[in-house]
Amino acid sequence: MKYEHIEPGIFHSRPNRFIAKVETGGREETVHVKNTGRCRELLVPGAKVYLERSGNPDRKTKWDLIAVEKGERMINMDSQAPNVLVKEWLEAGNLFCDLTRIRPEYTYGNSRFDLYVEADGQKILMEVKGVTLEEDGRVRFPDAPSDRAVKHMEELKEAVKNGYQAYVFFVIQMKGVRFFTPNTDTHPEFARALKEAADGGVQVLAYDCLVSPEEVHIADPVPVALENPALYEMADPLVGWYREHKRDLPWRKDPDAYRVWVSEIMLQQTRVEAVKPYYERFLKKLPTVRDLADAEEDVLLKLWEGLGYYNRVRNMQKAARQIVVDFGGKFPETYEEICSLKGIGSYTAGAISAFAYGLPRPAVDGNVLRVVMRLTGSHADIMKQSVKRRVEEALQEVIPKDAASDFDQGLIELGAIVCVPNGSPRCEECPLASICEARKQGLTGEIPVKSKAKARRIENRTVLLFKDHKELAVRKRPGRGLLAGLYEFPNVEGHLTMDEVTAYCKEIGLAPVRVRPLEKAKHIFSHIEWHMTGYEVLVDELEKTNEKGFLFALPEEIGKKYSIPSAFEVYVRHAGIEKGIGGQENV
Ligand code: SF4
Repeated sequence: MKYEHIEPGIFHSRPNRFIAKVETGGREETVHVKNTGRCRELLVPGAKVYLERSGNPDRKTKWDLIAVEKGERMINMDSQAPNVLVKEWLEAGNLFCDLTRIRPEYTYGNSRFDLYVEADGQKILMEVKGVTLEEDGRVRFPDAPSDRAVKHMEELKEAVKNGYQAYVFFVIQMKGVRFFTPNTDTHPEFARALKEAADGGVQVLAYDCLVSPEEVHIADPVPVALENPALYEMADPLVGWYREHKRDLPWRKDPDAYRVWVSEIMLQQTRVEAVKPYYERFLKKLPTVRDLADAEEDVLLKLWEGLGYYNRVRNMQKAARQIVVDFGGKFPETYEEICSLKGIGSYTAGAISAFAYGLPRPAVDGNVLRVVMRLTGSHADIMKQSVKRRVEEALQEVIPKDAASDFDQGLIELGAIVCVPNGSPRCEECPLASICEARKQGLTGEIPVKSKAKARRIENRTVLLFKDHKELAVRKRPGRGLLAGLYEFPNVEGHLTMDEVTAYCKEIGLAPVRVRPLEKAKHIFSHIEWHMTGYEVLVDELEKTNEKGFLFALPEEIGKKYSIPSAFEVYVRHAGIEKGIGGQENV
C-alpha cells in the first residue's frame, strides 16, 4: 500500500480524537488523525510525524497524519490501512491456495466483519485489527476498551460452530517486535474472549509490517501469546543474568555433545558438587563415544559406582554402540536423531541439542518446571507428563534462536540457585521478578503443585558379612532388575535373629566361629525401601561353603574391582572396604 504527497512534520497537540496540530512547512497546521485510538505513547509533543496531503479540495483539513517515529521505529497509524493490507496480501496468494472470492464489510449475525473470503472450498470470516501499541518490543491490543471487539470474538466463535472458518488477523503496523499479546490492562474482557475464541477454533494470526513514510506492507508472522506473556518476556533478562552469574562447572567448558551427554546423565538425581569428580574420572577413562561403546561392563559399573541408577550408564553404552553402528561413531546432530538413542528422553535430547549445537530446543527438568509454573502462576501438577509436554511446547515458541544454549541453561541455573524449591525462592535476586505471577500474587509457597508419588514398598533384608581370617564373601546380582549386575554382600529376605543366622550358615555349609550383630541401615530407591539388619559372621574357611555364586576376595580387591552399590554403604564400612569416590546414589 502506497501513500502520495508525503511531508514530514512535528507533532504539537491533539485537541480531540480526530485532529492534531502539527508543524509542517514552517507553519502549524490542523491535520486529520487517521486513528481514533488513544495513541498516547505515539503522539507526544515533538514527535516526528508524516502527513499525506489530501487530494480533496473540499476538505476542512488538507492533511492526514499517517505515520510517526518512535525512537528508531517507524509506526504506521492509519487505522484504515490494516483492512486494505490484508486484502492485498490475500489477493497476492498468501495464506490460502485457491482464493475465489473476497468481499470487504460482510454482515454475519449481528456483526459486520472486515472480510468474507471463499478459498480452498471454505467460507471464511476474517476480522482485522490494527495494532500500534508497543512497549519494549511487546505489542498489545486494544489500546482502549472495545466492547465491539469482544462481540466480534464471540460471533466468530459461533460462526465456527456453523461451519465457517474464522480468523482474527492482528496487523502490527511496524517492524521488529517480539510478540503480540492481548491487553489485559485496558480490557481483560477482550483477552478472555480472544482466548475462548481461539479455544473454539478461531485462528489467531499476527503479522508485522514493513513501514516507510510512503509505503506499508505486511511482512512476517509475529508470535502470539494468548496467555502467559511472561514466557515471551523472559528471554532477554534471563540470558543476560545467566551470562553474568553462571557457575563455573567443568562440563560448561568446551561443551561438545559427548561431554554434555555424560554430564547430563550424571546430574540426573545427583548434586552438582558430587558429580564433578565422577565426570572428570569418566572422561579421562572413556574420552570418546567409541571408548564408551567398547568399555567392559565391570569397568563401566565401577566408574559409575556411587552415582546409582546403573541402568543409565548401561543405556549410555547401548546408545554409544548405536552411534558407532548407525552414525559412524560421530554424535548425531539433529534433535530427532539424538532422541532415537537409547535412554535419551526429551530433556537430555534438548540439552544436547541446545548446549552443544545451539539448536532452539527446550530442556525441561524439575528446575525448569518450577520456574515456569511460578513465573506463569500456574497450579498445574508438575508430576504429570502432560504438563511437562505443555511447558516444552510453550518454551519451544520463545527460545531465542541466537541464544538457545544460554536460555536453556539460564532456566536450569535459575531453578538451581535462585528459584529454589520448598517455598523459599530468592526473588529479590531474580532477573524475572518484575514479570513473575507467583511473586506478584504471593503464591511462591504454593507453586509448584506436585502430587504425591505412590508410597514405596518396604522390604526387610538381613545382610551378612561372611569373613574368614583373610577374605570376604560377595556375589553378583542378577543381570536384570534392581541393581542389576552389581556386587553385594550375601543377604536374605526378612530380619533374621542370631539363631536364624546360625541356622542359615549351616544350611549353606559354613561353620560360624562368631556371629556379631551390626547396625541397622535403610536405603531408599525410587519405588522400594530396604530396611536392613546385618551380622558379621566369622567362619573358619569361606571356601567350604556349598552356596553357589559366592566370590571371595580381600577387602582392598573388592574396593578396586567390584561395584558395590551405596545401598550397602554401612556394611562396606564395617567390612573395611575403601571405595574410589564417595557419593549419593539411587536406582
Ligand atoms: S520471582 Fe521468585 S518465584 Fe518468580 S521466578 Fe523469580 S525466584 Fe522464582
